Amino acid sequence: MSEQYDVIVIGGGPAGYVAAIRCAQLGLNTACVEKWINKQNKPALGGTCLNVGCIPSKALLEATELYDQAQHGFEDLGINIKGIELDVPKMISRKDKIVSELTGGIEQLFKANKITWLQGTGRLMADKQVEVTTLDGNTETHTGNSIIIATGSEPIELSATPLTGDKVVDSAGALDWEAVPGKVCVIGAGVIGLELGSVWRRLGSEVIVLEAMDEFLPMVDNAIAKDALRTFTKQGLDIRLGARVMKSEVKGESVVIDYKDKDGDQSMTVDKLIVAVGRRAVTDVVLSPESAVQSDERGQIHVNEYCETSVPGIYAIGDIVRGPMLAHKGSEEGVMVAERIVGQHGHVNYDVMPNVIYTHPEIAWVGKTEEEVKSDGTDYQVGTFPFAASGRAKAKGDTSGLVKVIRDTANDRLLGAHIIGPSASELLGQSVLTMEFDGTIEDIARTIHAHPTLSEAMHEAALGADGRAIHIANRKRR
Ligand code: FAD
Ligand code: NAD
Repeated sequence: MSEQYDVIVIGGGPAGYVAAIRCAQLGLNTACVEKWINKQNKPALGGTCLNVGCIPSKALLEATELYDQAQHGFEDLGINIKGIELDVPKMISRKDKIVSELTGGIEQLFKANKITWLQGTGRLMADKQVEVTTLDGNTETHTGNSIIIATGSEPIELSATPLTGDKVVDSAGALDWEAVPGKVCVIGAGVIGLELGSVWRRLGSEVIVLEAMDEFLPMVDNAIAKDALRTFTKQGLDIRLGARVMKSEVKGESVVIDYKDKDGDQSMTVDKLIVAVGRRAVTDVVLSPESAVQSDERGQIHVNEYCETSVPGIYAIGDIVRGPMLAHKGSEEGVMVAERIVGQHGHVNYDVMPNVIYTHPEIAWVGKTEEEVKSDGTDYQVGTFPFAASGRAKAKGDTSGLVKVIRDTANDRLLGAHIIGPSASELLGQSVLTMEFDGTIEDIARTIHAHPTLSEAMHEAALGADGRAIHIANRKRR
């Protein structure tokens, strides 16, 4: 069987499936090659994000946060709950149901948009031909006028800490334990380490996070990272910085981990180990030498700002190209490429990319950190507002954290917004929009924010950038 398509997308994660849907909306005859087999042994769309990433991790973060609140947070509200019971298998099966509903939803969207799902592994050959090894082992070759490669990423494995499937796992494995381990070690205090470390800590595990670097969350604004380290430590996450893991070994029911820190060689014994040391682009299978598409030694495909590869008509998007490994970044690239294929002017504003870490409190940011603005030599002012002074945060009983905005003194533009606090992920939206519209701090300061809402903290931080905050004493008054 050999078909000609307007577009063939290889990879059905948030970059690929969004690209395929937008192509179909624009009238292109589109196919998407996807090989994923899910936990129920069925082919599935949605990639890492829907199957073992964003969605299942958030399902567990939401459930475990409520469990934690029910245990520790309700007494202060005058609610005494007795006899709280944990049903971890039910929590996991709820997570699996959410995943199935969402991945099934993408399948329905493919049908509604008349996208052909080619189930199997795609390999790009010469002349925009895609060889597909189907799930039942047959080979067929299809041709696309345009090709979009979106084969995503996979966890980096450390040869010194080999995965064992149960005791030593990557992020996907840590989403499926059906009993709470006594003691868990996480290698890497990155986004995954903190999110999954939080899940198991809330369920009662002792959690130790070993991080090779001396600095905690170097990509986050310093003031926010400091606040986060203090808060997570108070929650019981034992975060050890400057601790480089050298080796792990399963001994009976335990895992022994050797690491080095400033005091020398250390060893610890735990029940489970999560390896969360980053992800790498998956392009080894998809790129044949005949495809002539250039990638680097880390497997990342070279692209320009429009995600065009070195070969005309072949595009690459999502985790396999430069930039942060984020679902929304890949999806926006998918939309951009689809629109450019039909001659429209899609673009991605990489300078205004929201980032969120879904711990409690959440950490969310857009734009530059204070450290970056300072090193650029820009003349700037900072406005901050603590949630402890927010009426809504007090009413919720959730007052930790702050909002911080950075203003360009020369033109009042919003250079960056940084939040640690309740619903930070949702609060960030107005700053993203302000930056996208090239708005100013004054635009936020003059916008009416409903009272009482958490968003008033953003309003007050904007006012505070030039000394006009109402509900906190300003250092400088206007
Ligand atoms: P992927 O989602 O990896 O999809 C690539 C797809 O291509 C896969 O389905 C794969 O099977 C398929 N494929 C690969 N090779 C071939 C081939 N040769 N033929 C056919 N198919 C192929 N990001 C966020 O923005 N927010 C979050 O909250 C978030 N949480 C995360 C939590 C965890 C635990 C993890 C691991 C990641 C998280 N991420 C999050 C990152 C996010 O999942 C990725 O950035 C996103 O999935 C990348 O999308 P993608 O489409 O580029 O790649
Ligand atoms: P990461 O790069 O965020 O963190 C990995 C950490 O492991 C780093 O801090 C690194 O210094 C440390 N490390 C590496 N080798 C080590 C060693 N031998 N010993 C001790 N520490 C070591 O990677 P991640 O947390 O695995 O996440 C991968 C990607 O997935 C991220 O780029 C992120 O963008 C994406 N993701 C996003 C979200 C979100 O948006 N909320 C959630 C999860 C994952």
